[in-house]
Amino acid sequence: MASPVIFWFRRDLRLADNPALTAAAALGRPVVPLFIVDDHLLAPSGLARATYLEATLRSLSDSMDGALVVRRGSPSEVLRELAKEVGADSVFATGDTANYGRRRDTQVADDLDTVGIAMHYVSTPYIVAPGTIRSKTGDPFKVFTAFRRVWDTLECEAPVDAPTVSWLTLESEPLTVISDSAGKVRPAFFTNRLPDTPPPLPPVGEAAAWELVTSFHSRIDRYDDTRNEPGVDGTSALSPHLRWGTIHPRQLVAAFAGPGDGRRVWISEVTWREFYADVLFHQPHSVWENLQPQMNYLQIDRDARAVARFEAWALGETGYPLVDAGMRQLLETGWMHNRVRMVTASFLVKHLHLDWRWGARWFMWRLFDGDLASNQHGWQWTAGTGTDAAPYHRIFNPTTQAERFDPHGNFVTKYVPELRGVAAPQCLQPGGGDGLLAPPNYAKPVVDAKTEREEALRRFAEAREVAKAARG
Ligand SMILES: Cc1cc2nc3c(=O)[nH]c(=O)nc-3n(C[C@H](O)[C@H](O)[C@H](O)COP(=O)(O)OP(=O)(O)OC[C@H]3O[C@@H](n4cnc5c(N)ncnc54)[C@H](O)[C@@H]3O)c2cc1C
Repeated sequence: MASPVIFWFRRDLRLADNPALTAAAALGRPVVPLFIVDDHLLAPSGLARATYLEATLRSLSDSMDGALVVRRGSPSEVLRELAKEVGADSVFATGDTANYGRRRDTQVADDLDTVGIAMHYVSTPYIVAPGTIRSKTGDPFKVFTAFRRVWDTLECEAPVDAPTVSWLTLESEPLTVISDSAGKVRPAFFTNRLPDTPPPLPPVGEAAAWELVTSFHSRIDRYDDTRNEPGVDGTSALSPHLRWGTIHPRQLVAAFAGPGDGRRVWISEVTWREFYADVLFHQPHSVWENLQPQMNYLQIDRDARAVARFEAWALGETGYPLVDAGMRQLLETGWMHNRVRMVTASFLVKHLHLDWRWGARWFMWRLFDGDLASNQHGWQWTAGTGTDAAPYHRIFNPTTQAERFDPHGNFVTKYVPELRGVAAPQCLQPGGGDGLLAPPNYAKPVVDAKTEREEALRRFAEAREVAKAARG
């Protein structure tokens, strides 16, 4: 029998349109499919993401007649041992372009090379590999519109079908991702009032992604009108699938090709994902550092009152209905609507004066789609520390946002039961309404939004002044 090759699955948990798998299969040798549970990656994730991953791996393994080998440990060691065990001399994987992944991949290729094993990285989880697009002067783009202008001119490759693969089945091992050291981490830095269980899982795996594609086909032409309304099923909900690679954006561009604003705007949203991966590629420090250094001078609250306010925000008890509904949607479902992500993030930074990193960590703990590039840069954009071209004055008013995007209160009353029975627009107001009208069991507003908006503007102006003075 020809010696097998190893296929190392990472953020590409699918068989169709997986160029690295196609390249491995093209050798015509048996393939050992492998996933490595790397505690370094899993430790900071919460139970939500770990559970989603485990279920997705089961689905992937089922699609290979149970052949998936799941091992835990350092990638170099696991690969070396498995290669020795099965007599493999090549490993294939999809390229990773995020911080840890890039470092790990270089190290793994070097380590395997020393024992005569060839490591092949093919393609990426993006349509255009991060780091590729540059301005005429050769610089990376700092704002989305300029990036997209170039991205739009590039050809998106056509997706390819799943290759025919002869999987090599090893003696089966238990498929577990969650352990004592990984996937159970709770952000103990703030509150003890956390759910012990992950949110209920949506359907996972490649087939589930395609079911969403089919259902979104009937809605995409209305996307431009409905995408901002959290009470309407207006978006695709494909983000966890893109996060884990059960579908590739190339496949989606092909599936949703056609005329019309809905499709055009939807692809433009997918381009945000590509943009943020590109920003991360060029500026890896942006994961936890302000992209705009002048914002290092912004006054941020970190005292006991700040911690109490953070807890109210995280648990959906701020007394601002749209913010609370969004935060409870996150806790209950592991997902949050994009408009509400922006409103809740803006509220944390600009009304509560807290550090965007606190919020970003919380989101990463509970989101099924938690993705370093999209999450950290989504936070930085909203906080005014990142790539937003007009960052300072964009302060979302949580009440007018609710009136505009959830006018009938469908979303707010779905996630905040205390407000059920209170008609819109009253249920959208701070505290669910004034005085006697307020439902007695709903939280009182944690701050006065108007006062804190002024305070945020003052702090932003001050940060700019201090930064200017520091520059001399
Ligand atoms: C503070 C904040 C944090 C975020 N954290 C994440 C995250 O961890 N993971 C994540 O995938 N997205 C994140 N986003 C982006 C966006 O909110 C989600 O991608 C979107 O809500 C997913 O829902 P959907 O699949 O129905 O999106 P659709 O509207 O159907 O869009 C299609 C796809 O385009 C991409 N996309 C859409 N909007 C954005 C955006 N603003 N930035 C980057 N990609 C986008 C996603 O992959 C999405 O699945 C964040 C946004 C903000 C403001």
